[in-house]
Amino acid sequence: MSRSARCEGSPMRRIAVLGATGSIGDSTLDVVARHPQRFAVEALAAHTNADKLADLCRRFRPPYAALSDGDAAQALQRQLARDGVPTRVLAGPEGLAEVATLPAVDTVLAAIVGAAGLPPTLAAARAGKRILLANKEALVLGGAVFMAAVDAGGATLLPIDSEHNAIFQCLPAHYARDPRAAGVRRILLTASGGPFRTRAVAELAHVTPDEACAHPNWTMGRKISVDSATMMNKGLEVIEAHWLFGAPREAIDVVIHPQSVVHSLVEYADGSVLAQLGHPDMRTPIAQALAFPDRIDAGVARLDLAGLAALAFEAPDTARFPCLALAYDALAAGGTAPAFLNAANEVAVAAFLAGRIRFTDIAAACAETLARAAVGPVATIDDALAADGQARRLTHGWVEGRANAGRVTA
Ligand code: NAD
Ligand code: MG
Repeated sequence: MSRSARCEGSPMRRIAVLGATGSIGDSTLDVVARHPQRFAVEALAAHTNADKLADLCRRFRPPYAALSDGDAAQALQRQLARDGVPTRVLAGPEGLAEVATLPAVDTVLAAIVGAAGLPPTLAAARAGKRILLANKEALVLGGAVFMAAVDAGGATLLPIDSEHNAIFQCLPAHYARDPRAAGVRRILLTASGGPFRTRAVAELAHVTPDEACAHPNWTMGRKISVDSATMMNKGLEVIEAHWLFGAPREAIDVVIHPQSVVHSLVEYADGSVLAQLGHPDMRTPIAQALAFPDRIDAGVARLDLAGLAALAFEAPDTARFPCLALAYDALAAGGTAPAFLNAANEVAVAAFLAGRIRFTDIAAACAETLARAAVGPVATIDDALAADGQARRLTHGWVEGRANAGRVTA
């Protein structure tokens, strides 16, 4: 990643929030609202939730709003016209790409969930924006293409996934995607272990979507919550770290840390290990990236070290969390393998949330898709999107077979 575009002083940042109605969108707008002299909302974008986006437009008065769903965009347009809100409404994937590349926008908060976030985020990269990246799936799906677009477009990439933001904070200021050159021996991603860290493995076939979404430390959207329960989230984050920091997979380790206070660590050649600590509250990494290189109030309570009972660390159990091993395998296979894994996981998680397959079927569906899809190179975004489509079809077929076999008694 590049830090070349450090801002001078504290200019007004003009922001487009992609995924404005989600959990990261909420946290971002909370931080933004605390600093009206620093941040102006130029555009808000989401998928289908016209009511919530209308509320946000009434509150933040952005010049532009976009919904990827055409009917929802029309509903938003009607609500805003009725209330006399002068926000211009755009629709469809083109509308998302348009708000991500508006000349007035300098900062794009990329917080759409899933592969749908890649095209507008890529457009922002090509347009040379300052991109605050939450949408890890964009990097998993098309990491090589995305990073090349960041470089070619002269974009600045700041991670807001909490672990990657922590690593960013622990790396030297001149870091340029080369761990060896910076004396970095290892990147250590922490993982909470999710809600099933201590559940008997035999019971995992029977856990419900609500149990899987009940994360012990973080409040997040449902897809990433399930990913945390399977630890696929950490697997995707290993791939995300590979692209963001130019680290080979051997130099990226995962350690379970149930308290979610240490957000990740960097180990240096001299034996030093640097960590970033804080409450598990996404407003901290979001504020760090929004204001970088300045520091601003994020509305987060101070960390009371004496009040913390203990900080524990343990190695992950890959028998309990097969998705973590699948992600390392996909990274080793390279090419389209991570795109296959990501798409298979999205389809399987949606099927699990809909009560169609079991929790343990998520890993089985991903393994099956990875085994059946032939890995090819990712030279263009179309290669990545074709792989995504192929994996979705394979996994849908697998899910149908599983669901029709009547193995789920939701
Ligand atoms: P969420 O489900 O709460 O919100 C998702 C947002 O994406 C919504 O605004 C929704 O409208 C939008 N969206 C979904 N599909 C879309 C589509 N097809 N087109 C346009 N917009 C679409 O999810 P979240 O928890 O806010 O996570 C967002 C991203 O941030 C994910 O990639 C996730 O992995 C990442 N992330 C989240 C957290 C967290 O704490 N929530 C932490 C780290 C990283
Ligand atoms: Mg994370």
